[in-house]
Amino acid sequence: MLLEPVVQEFIRLAEIDSPPRQERALADYLLARCAELGVQLSEDDAGKEIGGNAGNLYGFLPGDEREPLLLCAHMDTVRSNHGLKVVIEDGKLCSQGRRHILGADDKVGIAAILEVLRRCQESRHAHPPIEVLFTIAEETGLLGAKSVDITRLHSKHGLVLDAGGRVGTVVKRSPVHYEFLIKVHGRAAHAGNSPEAGINAIQIAAQIVGAIKLGRIDEYTTANIGKITGGAAINIVPDYAELTGEVRSHRPERATEYLESLSAVAKRIAAEYGGRGEVEATQSFPAMQLDEGSRIAVATRDAAAKIGLRYELVTKGGGSDANILNSRGLTCANLGIGCYLEHSNEEYVAVADLEKLVEYLMAICEVW
Ligand SMILES: [Zn+2]
Repeated sequence: MLLEPVVQEFIRLAEIDSPPRQERALADYLLARCAELGVQLSEDDAGKEIGGNAGNLYGFLPGDEREPLLLCAHMDTVRSNHGLKVVIEDGKLCSQGRRHILGADDKVGIAAILEVLRRCQESRHAHPPIEVLFTIAEETGLLGAKSVDITRLHSKHGLVLDAGGRVGTVVKRSPVHYEFLIKVHGRAAHAGNSPEAGINAIQIAAQIVGAIKLGRIDEYTTANIGKITGGAAINIVPDYAELTGEVRSHRPERATEYLESLSAVAKRIAAEYGGRGEVEATQSFPAMQLDEGSRIAVATRDAAAKIGLRYELVTKGGGSDANILNSRGLTCANLGIGCYLEHSNEEYVAVADLEKLVEYLMAICEVW
């Protein structure tokens, strides 16, 4: 069976192992492949900053007088898929024997970008300048995107190719995300000889968990406590316990309010026991909201109409490089790329969707 170039490219990319912070082999492949396609990539120092072995890659294909359009995808996969063999079953690209993740998230995005470069180079039709950005360590907190040197980019608008789901869906909004740590300090004592002298940090932590709202907080906001640690031995009243969790909201102020109430509850309950509670929170990524009237949103809509693709704006509960790029002044839409069951060994992408994605990107370039 003769495979379309984009499918061949995807298989090559997928079979290069590239877990977060270990994107070197893939970066080297992309440096060479883009050079063949007439685009010299440059690399930044983001890898050094985060203990990885490759940096973000930047490239620019000159075009006509239109404004440049940025295409972005991440190089890392959620975990290693060393030894992966890609097979096609019922028209779907998947991992042979389902022994590995496929890594269609986000090798589909990269394959589509390379195919756009190839087609732009090959055809004699005019195309806008195409800027490419391949990031590292997306899966470990958008670390590569956070280190992107914005001054290296020529574009004001872009497409991030990294949303699961149907080609033709465009992420309209995605939430702010905070990680938080509730630290509970009690007092250690011998559990048998002098329990009265102790303050049980685990018991305080349990009361705090019982007192706060978790799960779906309101229509915009979710919260979770995902980890609890504390104590040293069964005969010691524990002097310390820690709860780790997250809160997300499409309304950033709601997340802040949640964290404030969490902090108040932790302090109050710990004080009731004579202990001390404190909450530390760090923002992992800002919220993004795509303006439907923005040039990039209009282009994605018009291009879909042009090729008869059902267009749909969707809300996502997770973040992507688009959250970071938007917060830094680039208007970026995150597109559905046709992968399903990402981060699992059942992950797949249909050959037809991969081809459709390329067709869609070419249509966006045309209407741009
Ligand atoms: Zn991804």
